[in-house]
Amino acid sequence: MPVPAYPASDFPERPTAIVTGAASERGIGRATALRLARDGWAVAVLDLDGAASEAVASEIAEQTGAPTLGLGVDIADEQAVIDAVARVDAELPQLVGLVNNAGISSPTPFTEVGTEEWKRVFDVNVHGTYFVTREAVRAFRRHSLGRIVNVSSASAERGGGVYGRAAYSGSKAALLGMARTWARELGEYGITANCVAPGSIDTDIMGGRLSDERKTFLLQELPVGRVGTVEDVAGGIAYLLGRDGGYLTGVTLDINGGSHIA
Ligand code: NAD
Repeated sequence: MPVPAYPASDFPERPTAIVTGAASERGIGRATALRLARDGWAVAVLDLDGAASEAVASEIAEQTGAPTLGLGVDIADEQAVIDAVARVDAELPQLVGLVNNAGISSPTPFTEVGTEEWKRVFDVNVHGTYFVTREAVRAFRRHSLGRIVNVSSASAERGGGVYGRAAYSGSKAALLGMARTWARELGEYGITANCVAPGSIDTDIMGGRLSDERKTFLLQELPVGRVGTVEDVAGGIAYLLGRDGGYLTGVTLDINGGSHIA
């Protein structure tokens, strides 16, 4: 009996990607949005602050000539997500990519973390990711083409160990399972789903720039001998999202400078 081949759509000349959490000044999301725009994508920036999202979108458009849209949305707010993804779908070219990057950390030890903090971390990192993905998948299915990348964390695989504790690690581990399930269930619609799991990246999520002392500690025995940059992560995401990434699904790229083997 012949093996059925799923219908494969052509990758459009100018696909659109949504990048959540892309407004922060020194963050992974912003670097990813810029990298994708340089690679030829139209980009939608979704972040909490509408003005900041619009400013980043305009800046990227100026630098790259790519069509962009910046929208203020709390991804934990289901209706706001439905409205935002509908706008992206209506106003930008064919939606092909989704980078689930928006996230919050939780440095509180398990014995001290309260219900409120626990729920907020899961509301944003897990439920928010579910809302955005569900809406994007509706658009992907119309063209039988979609690429999803969840930004998980080495913390999910190692059980914290750098900054994030149980709520953060648990929520980021959920993203690994969700992506693998989407990979399994959505392949027949031309959709791939993968993760990146960054190690320590020099951003503001840890409440400020990494001090030199902290960097020295993190670098001990790290094979590449340096802290990761947002561009390191953006490059991995761009590969999984792009034309060359179509035969990768259900994988996790460990962008961590070799910390797993250290
Ligand atoms: P960041 O704080 O600079 O970026 C996070 C962004 O998410 C911010 O722009 C923030 O406004 C946005 N955001 C937060 N809650 C939101 C919500 N409810 N709705 C919409 N947007 C929201 O930090 P970053 O380091 O660039 O983190 C980006 C992602 O990478 C996060 O998911 C983080 O967990 C993950 N990550 C970071 C590291 C690291 O070392 N920096 C390591 C592994 C994983």
